[in-house]
Amino acid sequence: MENEFDATQVLIIDDEQSLRDGAERILIRMGCTVLKASRGDKGLDIIEKEPVAIVLLDMKMPGMDGMEVLGRIMEMGLGILVIVITGYATVETAIEAMKKGAYDFIPKPYEPDQLRIVVNRAREKLQLSMEAEKLEAERRRTLADLHMEQSRVHTIVESLPNGVIVTDTDGKVVLINPAFRQHLGLSDAIGPGNRIEDFVTDKGLCTLVMDISRGKHVDFDDIPSYELDLPNGKFLLARGRPVLGERRQCLGAVLNIMDISAMKALDQLKSEFVAKVSHELRSPLSTIHEQLSLVLSDMAEESEEVATENDQYILSRAKEKTNGLISTIGDLLDLSRIEAGIAAKEVRPVQVGELLKNIVDFLEVRASAKGQTLVLETPDKALPEVMADPMALESVFGNLITNAINYTQDGGEIRASVNQSGSNLRIVIQDNGYGIEAKHMDKIFDRFYRVKTDKTRYITGTGLGLPIVKGIVDSMGGFIDVESESGQGTTFIVILPVKR
Ligand code: ATP
Ligand code: MG
Repeated sequence: MENEFDATQVLIIDDEQSLRDGAERILIRMGCTVLKASRGDKGLDIIEKEPVAIVLLDMKMPGMDGMEVLGRIMEMGLGILVIVITGYATVETAIEAMKKGAYDFIPKPYEPDQLRIVVNRAREKLQLSMEAEKLEAERRRTLADLHMEQSRVHTIVESLPNGVIVTDTDGKVVLINPAFRQHLGLSDAIGPGNRIEDFVTDKGLCTLVMDISRGKHVDFDDIPSYELDLPNGKFLLARGRPVLGERRQCLGAVLNIMDISAMKALDQLKSEFVAKVSHELRSPLSTIHEQLSLVLSDMAEESEEVATENDQYILSRAKEKTNGLISTIGDLLDLSRIEAGIAAKEVRPVQVGELLKNIVDFLEVRASAKGQTLVLETPDKALPEVMADPMALESVFGNLITNAINYTQDGGEIRASVNQSGSNLRIVIQDNGYGIEAKHMDKIFDRFYRVKTDKTRYITGTGLGLPIVKGIVDSMGGFIDVESESGQGTTFIVILPVKR
């Protein structure tokens, strides 16, 4: 468009040849391209064929007069600037022409400078309007792009298989996609503008979203994910993140909901399988173990000729191994029971201080075999009781203290302590042993996870202790945390709610 429109293409329509030629000379020197017509109709013909930008139009011509030609040019609506040349220098003609849409006028006869000034002004005007048009086109284009981009993002969010809901800093919903409604079984009746509580009935999840919305979790890492156990048997995993502005200011929260029912079912299947296999293995193993014990005690009574010392050694090793297997299977079964939520067999009020004392007395032997000191610190005043299955609690602290002994060098120090903190008991098991590197910290509570370093390589274990501990503590409504530094030692902190 810009290229075919030549701003300097000037058409002179004048019946006097000397005037046409005179103007042509001036205009060519100004850098214009010049076309000439001796009559109005001829001029109009040229305009139809050529991209004319400016017309110098004589008002007084035989045949079609200037005013009529002007009218025709205006009707064409090509944006041509018409400069009329008024022979009699009458103000009326000039005004009338301007009313009809002429851009400017020059009285006849005129000086070359007069023509130059008027034509230059017209050229500038053309230049400006061309630029304005270009800017306008650009603005329209960016707006269209933006609109396109927004609707594309909108379409993508609408068709996501995961549920998405976005809130502002007050917890008011600003966006919700169909998958979110579908996952939570929400009707279309409530939409954006309502509060998050109107969409999510789970109190804990609402609190989390509100906290994120208000900017409590601007640091990304510490946001817990949240599992929803729906009455229709579906399991949903919800994860929230703050929406941040350019200056990292919190603008609200985005919550993503995923259906993890299939994963849960698989996990359940795996647990059941482990439980079943463990159960099936336990009785034959116990039988083998008993038979080995029997053979061994028979051997001890019989004369030396029948059984060599070597045979006895082999059999006692086999007995040890079966014993280890039986205890692993016991752990697996415990874990299955904990996962199935039937851990606590016999819940009653328990004095944790006393329970710890028994365990410490029992494990003292192991610690002193390694030259370690094992101490228990209890407060002078009596502590409130907790409601628990004492066997399960023994398993918790037995495992933690055994770990402390196992993963601490000879001559190390292990401290167990119990204190009341608000409506909880706080039990701390601390050692100055090998410690755990940060990269393993979130995995040590996983089944079968063991840290293998040069120091721990030869320590036997199955990696089931901590998952059992965590399972029991969680089932009691408690909390377990661990702090550790490689080479410096490890501290396990168990929080248990006291009996109400
Ligand atoms: P078991 O099933 O016999 O208890 P385990 O002791 O290896 O086997 P967990 O009690 O679950 O299994 O512990 C998992 C891992 O965590 C251990 O292998 C060890 O690497 C690490 N760990 C646990 N407690 C400590 C501790 N007090 N100091 C250093 N590392 C520890
Ligand atoms: Mg252990």
